[in-house]
Amino acid sequence: MGNINSVVITTGTHGNEFTGIYLGKKFEQFPNLIQHPSFDTRVLLSNPKAFAAVRRYIDKDLNRCFATTDLQNPQLTSYEDILAKNIYYLLGEESKNQQQVIIDLHSSTANMQLTIILKNQHPFLLQLAAELSEINPDVRICYSQPTRDSNYLCSISELGFAIEVGPVAQGVLNAELFQKTEVLIYQALDYIESYNQGLNQQRNSSLTLYQYTGVIDYPRNEAGEIQGMIHPQLQFRDYQPLNPGEPIFLTFDERAIAYQGTSTVYPIFINEAAYYEKGIAMCLTEKKILQI
Ligand SMILES: [Zn+2]
Repeated sequence: MGNINSVVITTGTHGNEFTGIYLGKKFEQFPNLIQHPSFDTRVLLSNPKAFAAVRRYIDKDLNRCFATTDLQNPQLTSYEDILAKNIYYLLGEESKNQQQVIIDLHSSTANMQLTIILKNQHPFLLQLAAELSEINPDVRICYSQPTRDSNYLCSISELGFAIEVGPVAQGVLNAELFQKTEVLIYQALDYIESYNQGLNQQRNSSLTLYQYTGVIDYPRNEAGEIQGMIHPQLQFRDYQPLNPGEPIFLTFDERAIAYQGTSTVYPIFINEAAYYEKGIAMCLTEKKILQI
């Protein structure tokens, strides 16, 4: 693989995720912070209208609008469908013609710490992930293989990935998390610079990868209304082992509902505010150690 020519930091793909949005504004104000000798870095605010409204989106989730079939479908004309087509037009061509890394910044109300979400296992991304998890103790690496034709913004580039930081409420800035995210961006950019300079030794390292295996919805009645909450023993325990029989929900009539699986899993996005509408109370992952 050749050198990386450019990095695009996309922010506000969800308009109420302020950490990335204001970090991007800081980088635009102080561009020297992200400039490196061997590649160009720029910031793109993905969904300005949703940001102005402090909403995740206007018509639909922008970060599910990038499937190739949808981008080519002229019937899809919602605000976010048009936005996705414009962003793809802008970044898709660039990513075909050069080595472009896309870093899509998100925040979560769950205790995700600094999660790097990979949508593919490109060797460059695995090396980057291994390096970042080695030098930064807050980093977790999650791999979620897209089920259909990949519909995430960061998938525009083969070298794209997302960062999810949390816990932080929607529409809120938390200085500590902001600074941690900022440091992680600098570490990623430094890695890319040393890669371009040929300074990264190819060493054998192991990488802990949390591989997405499925989701669990809240308990609901026939009308679809939620009948319980995340169990207090599970709240904020993202990336901690969850064993069969351990409580995951507490119903309004005060019954604990246990995890019914047959093996230990590692739930993430526990009680993510944005996922109530998606019917997701948590995502389940398997913990894997990769030798790379
Ligand atoms: Zn998001």
